[in-house]
Amino acid sequence: TTIPRIVILGAGYAGMMTTKRLIQQFAPEEVEITLVNKHNYHYQTTWLHEVAAGTIDVNRSRIMISDVINTRRVNFVQDTVKKIHTENKQVELENSTLDYDYLVIGLGFEKATFGIPGMEHAFTIQTVDKSRMIRDHIEYQFSRYKTEENPSDDMLTIIVGGAGFTGIEFVGELAERVPLLCKKYDIPRHRAKIINIEAAPSILPGFDEDLLEYAKESLTRRGVEIRTSTMIKEVKEDSIIVGDDKEEIKAGTFVWTGGVQANSIVGEAGFEITKGRVNVDPMLRAPGYDDVFILGDCAWVTNKETGRPYPATAQIAIQEADVCAHNIRTLIFGGTLQEFVYDNKGTVASLGGSEAMGTVFDGQKLYGMQAKVMKHVIDDRYLFMVGGPTFVLKKGKFRPF
Ligand code: FAD
Ligand code: NAD
Repeated sequence: TTIPRIVILGAGYAGMMTTKRLIQQFAPEEVEITLVNKHNYHYQTTWLHEVAAGTIDVNRSRIMISDVINTRRVNFVQDTVKKIHTENKQVELENSTLDYDYLVIGLGFEKATFGIPGMEHAFTIQTVDKSRMIRDHIEYQFSRYKTEENPSDDMLTIIVGGAGFTGIEFVGELAERVPLLCKKYDIPRHRAKIINIEAAPSILPGFDEDLLEYAKESLTRRGVEIRTSTMIKEVKEDSIIVGDDKEEIKAGTFVWTGGVQANSIVGEAGFEITKGRVNVDPMLRAPGYDDVFILGDCAWVTNKETGRPYPATAQIAIQEADVCAHNIRTLIFGGTLQEFVYDNKGTVASLGGSEAMGTVFDGQKLYGMQAKVMKHVIDDRYLFMVGGPTFVLKKGKFRPF
């Protein structure tokens, strides 16, 4: 007799934690667990704005999968998922094909462009490689500025499109990094601009007013220009077009942080996409499928209280893993399926350097160093969950000494 085959696609927050939980839920002889990921490392997506700005080293943001996943229990396949065939329960990879009895999809996000023309010129903070390219591109512009005969200051302008959490956290890091680059390349600080452009009347639409004021003050004080009620209409090679009057703003670097959607592999597999993601059932299964779970940024679950989707966050992806692993066990051995209930532990955004702000627990507001410490505690808690104490010491953020 064969044992059930569980295949997990993507080793992000959702995929890694599901793999860890499945190892705990099952004895080795009960199931066969396979984890597929494009790279042999797992990365901290929530730190990529720091990689992109160049404020942390690339290697700090990644962990070798074989260092934290027991490869005697889990068959790790380093390959790229090309297509999911639900009709014959197969996953097509670049180099092979896998059969599954239970599938967990955790392939993460890609940029949502909303049909804005010229988006191929935009950088995005999406993977380790793409983030590193942003860092290198910015530095290249500074370096080029010093060698061109008649350099334009526009080369040193960095535009960040979208002031959601990603955009705000990124400009916060840039506010720390740009002065260092100016120093390194002997360029007066006032020549380099950091502009954050947001279509809505406010940054971080919907977030607490006091915290927004704090963030705005902190960022503008450190040289970030914030332009709200300004819609990006088009992206060109060295400029962007904004607003109804089609104002052109020149820039050497344009980074799009205007929104994310499910990895397109999910839509191509035939799962119904609503608002960029799959609206999974409360047990986290794709609608109409008993054997396919979709987690993290590929999915959204409806918040029963508000009737609106929960946001796509790492916090949610991690919590979903527990329910998913429990439900797979239930499907195999019987029992009661669990519904996902979000335990909101708060939201903390870093603003670069020692600046941060956010809410924790029951909505308590935190600012500055206090918020920064909380952010590090959150980061380190995840490292502990995924790799144990060794990884907190090796890659952790909170260093009291
Ligand atoms: P990911 O973490 O994106 O993982 C997807 C995995 O799938 C990756 O390992 C990728 O390599 C792999 N993959 C993709 N395509 C393929 C393929 N075709 N074949 C094989 N493998 C593939 N959320 C918070 O809660 N708190 C924060 O502070 C926070 N900060 C953020 C900061 C930034 C800069 C960004 C961009 C996001 C932040 N988020 C934060 C959101 C959070 O990162 C996402 O919600 C989270 O990463 C979703 O997890 P996931 O497992 O669905 O996908
Ligand atoms: P988002 O969708 O939350 O924000 C995108 C922003 O871009 C919005 O404010 C939107 O109004 C703006 N925008 C869209 N189109 C525009 C246009 N044409 N011109 C100008 N502005 C435009 O996306 P995000 O910031 O990448 O966040 C994605 C998810 O990741 C969210 O769920 C977020 O909560 C999560 N996240 C959390 C943290 C944190 O907790 N610290 C950090 C980063 C991301």
